Amino acid sequence: MDTAGKVIKCKAAVAWEPNKPLVIEDIEVAPPQANEVRIKIVATGVCHTDLYHLFEGMHKDGFPAVLGHEGAGIVESVGPGVSEFQPGDRVIPLFISQCRECRFCKSPKTNQCEKGWAADHYDVMALADSRFTCKGKKVLQFMGTSTFSEYTVMNQIAVAKIDPAAPLDKVCLLGCGVCTGFGAAVNTAKVEPGSTCAVFGMGAVGLAAVMGCKFAGAKRIIAVDTNPEKAEKARVFGATEFVNPKDYNRPISKVLAEMTNGGVDYSLECVGNVDVMRNALESCMKGWGVSVVVGWTDKHDFSARPIQLIAGRTWKGTLFGGFKSKDGVPQMVKAYMERKVKLDEFITHNMTLAQVNEAIELMKRGGCIRTVLSVSRH
Ligand code: NAD
Ligand code: ZN
Repeated sequence: MDTAGKVIKCKAAVAWEPNKPLVIEDIEVAPPQANEVRIKIVATGVCHTDLYHLFEGMHKDGFPAVLGHEGAGIVESVGPGVSEFQPGDRVIPLFISQCRECRFCKSPKTNQCEKGWAADHYDVMALADSRFTCKGKKVLQFMGTSTFSEYTVMNQIAVAKIDPAAPLDKVCLLGCGVCTGFGAAVNTAKVEPGSTCAVFGMGAVGLAAVMGCKFAGAKRIIAVDTNPEKAEKARVFGATEFVNPKDYNRPISKVLAEMTNGGVDYSLECVGNVDVMRNALESCMKGWGVSVVVGWTDKHDFSARPIQLIAGRTWKGTLFGGFKSKDGVPQMVKAYMERKVKLDEFITHNMTLAQVNEAIELMKRGGCIRTVLSVSRH
């Protein structure tokens, strides 16, 4: 059946309000407008940022919404003015756009883009406009992507065309977690060969950061997590040591300083906790240590003593691992196809969209690395 130009009725997991289970609903997805692409989502990962919006951020203007931002799919139809994509293209929706025209896109210093939702909607985490309705109500597109839906509509500046041979149920992880962690080490921290790194939080983002540290040639990679079950996975991705802060009655920064004769060269916070962010900074070597904030939170201030920075440490943050999204994602897909980066090892569970609440509960309990949901058949 040709669906181009028509409203599509399909299944999506709707977050009607904060802190409540998602509800599988029939939603209407409008045809793509100018410069837009309608995508059939084949698979999606569940990332902690989805949980953050639902249980922590809970901004009242951010609901109802369809969550999900780590997906992969196939172009169903395109709107007027789209020449880069055609029906059948394999794509990854991008929660950060790359318009290639704004002052940010033109600068090699950043991957921020002035045109996407992220430009000024960090609190609500969605654009004001949406192509979704359900029961007569407008439903927001979380992070612009909404991959917990059989179909979504994206502006072409936020879609990456990928190798048609790439398995969508694996490369979906490059839509967020894996690019974020890997890029945080390689692009943002700029880890150097022979260096010592500490990565806090061994979810998919932290494990990808470990993989990035190894890729960049780090000699020692210390994985830090309060869940001892994460130790084994950390080693799979290249960690040389594992430290559980709960095993010590002194600050983890002191423990790491003792292990490394003063501190690590690079630390990456992949938890989303402001106290851990401070610990990560304080674990760095004075003089040159670099600490990167990867974990997502916009709820609390963080603090540290100025002397930490005066003494020569650098504190940075990263969005999507510093990758310019449209350029970076196809390159990472290629790296996976050439077996230069791992993806399959992140996936501990496979479920369907109908099981999304189960997947969310599993992540909350720390019972998975990544659950990939199959969303529609292809
Ligand atoms: P996750 O829930 O799978 O992993 C978090 C890990 O942190 C778990 O293994 C948990 O045991 C561990 N942890 C919890 N408290 C800890 C502590 N005090 N010390 C050490 N470890 C601790 O989450 P994820 O999907 O890997 O995401 C990690 C973070 O990255 C989240 O905050 C997420 O929102 C954020 N994120 C940021 C970006 C970005 O662009 N900056 C993109 C994606 C995700
Ligand atoms: Zn994410």
